[in-house]
Amino acid sequence: MSKIRVRFAPSPTGALHIGGVRTALYNYLFAKKEGGTFILRIEDTDQTRYVPGAEKYIMEALEWAGLKLDEGPGIGGEHGPYRQSERKALYGEYAKKLVDSGHAYYAFDTPEDLAKAREEHPNFKYGIMTRIVMKNSLTMSAEEVQQKLDAGEPSVIRLKVPADEAILINDIVRGEVTFQSNELDDKVMLKGDGMPTYHLANIVDDHLMEISHVIRGEEWLTSTAHHVLLYRAFGWEDTMPKFSHLPLILKPTGKGKLSKRDGAKLGIPVFPLSWDGGTPENTFDGFREFGFLPEAMLNFLAFLGWNPGTEQEIFTKEELAAVFDLEKVGKSGAKFDYDKAKWFNQQYIMEKDDDALVEMVTPIIKEHHGEVDADFLKGFVGLMKERATLLPDFWTAGSYFFKDVEEFDLKSIRKRWKPENSPKMKAFIGAINGLENFDAASIETAIHAFMEKEELGMGVVMPALRLALTGTMKGPSVFDMMSLLGKQRVVERLEKGFQYFDDYKASLDQA
Ligand code: GLU
Repeated sequence: MSKIRVRFAPSPTGALHIGGVRTALYNYLFAKKEGGTFILRIEDTDQTRYVPGAEKYIMEALEWAGLKLDEGPGIGGEHGPYRQSERKALYGEYAKKLVDSGHAYYAFDTPEDLAKAREEHPNFKYGIMTRIVMKNSLTMSAEEVQQKLDAGEPSVIRLKVPADEAILINDIVRGEVTFQSNELDDKVMLKGDGMPTYHLANIVDDHLMEISHVIRGEEWLTSTAHHVLLYRAFGWEDTMPKFSHLPLILKPTGKGKLSKRDGAKLGIPVFPLSWDGGTPENTFDGFREFGFLPEAMLNFLAFLGWNPGTEQEIFTKEELAAVFDLEKVGKSGAKFDYDKAKWFNQQYIMEKDDDALVEMVTPIIKEHHGEVDADFLKGFVGLMKERATLLPDFWTAGSYFFKDVEEFDLKSIRKRWKPENSPKMKAFIGAINGLENFDAASIETAIHAFMEKEELGMGVVMPALRLALTGTMKGPSVFDMMSLLGKQRVVERLEKGFQYFDDYKASLDQA
């Protein structure tokens, strides 16, 4: 069997949409599964749509996601260059080959000619039925054509779509898809400026780069008919890649394609990384900035259009590669379920080892609070990792580990604090202060002894401690928390908290 070689071939026209990351992922997984090669090709021949910074964004996004390239710009490989703008000369040659073999022709129609044709025939299509009345090398004498070319008159090269051919595509995802050549137009292959169109460059490169499988978004399915014709015209049909067209990623409602605007409207990420497009509408945060782990994003994306057919949902990249199967990719659009994305992230945070989490959480804590001791942070992430869905939650749900409680959950104080127990609770602070060992187990023993001696129940003591220490009723184990906070801070907070509870209750009685 010939070698498996796949390419991800984005156009650098802006930030890479999450759908593009999924395409890259499926290419990557397929390559890894088959022991093949994963290639990045930058399709930058359309200068009018070129956006500076977009290529860099694509590279960074792939790197962050952990989709390691085997060949590509800046990486190298035997089939380079991998940027189409650097392969420009090639495409002209191949376009001429098509003309010479009678599969393409020069067309000299001016924009006005084309506008006129469209005006006269609202459904005008440059092709089988109309090419004979247009200005091209099929309707002109060879001398006339040569004269125009020599004179440098503007011209394009168009594919001469053959009449009455059925084009059958055996798509791995979609099954058999048939097109009739009579319905296709004579697409431009080489533009007036000598640049190829997407179609020509894409096919020439897939051939020269020995691509075995084309895995791309569904929006390219209709172009595939032209692509097959090109393979036939070049005589490359035998080595034509196999096609897989991936289903659309739909809005969370399931109605329509997920768009950039959905991101802003729903406050969800639809790009992998942040992008500064110069205007507020074109500037946004990505999965990374929302606080996703790249592995969680990949696991989520893998399931947008594919599933292993088992109950298992959590897969490492390697596990995904082992079970991934293009045949199991669905035909219908996949709903972008943001809650599911968050669920994946939560699972990954929970499973992450503490040192790795410290690294990820440190910048967030620094931003809100400043420098923190690394050992303290390690203890902190260990206690909080089961309570964070997105990385910023470590701060929003755990800021009390770093600064004094500024706000108390008053409703819980009303319900839980009994002023008649206050003297005992306050006296207990002294016992805590006297503890020699401040590890969670010693603290727990002391608290149990206190409850027994004073005949106070769990439901009285624990909430009071928790509220005084954190301000809320939520959070990790009180004993663990106390141990991490350290005796001094615990004592201070309990003193301050219990007094606050007394005062607050008294103020209620007066009102
Ligand atoms: N340049 C196309 C894109 O931006 C590539 C489509 C393909 O993979 O053939 O998606």
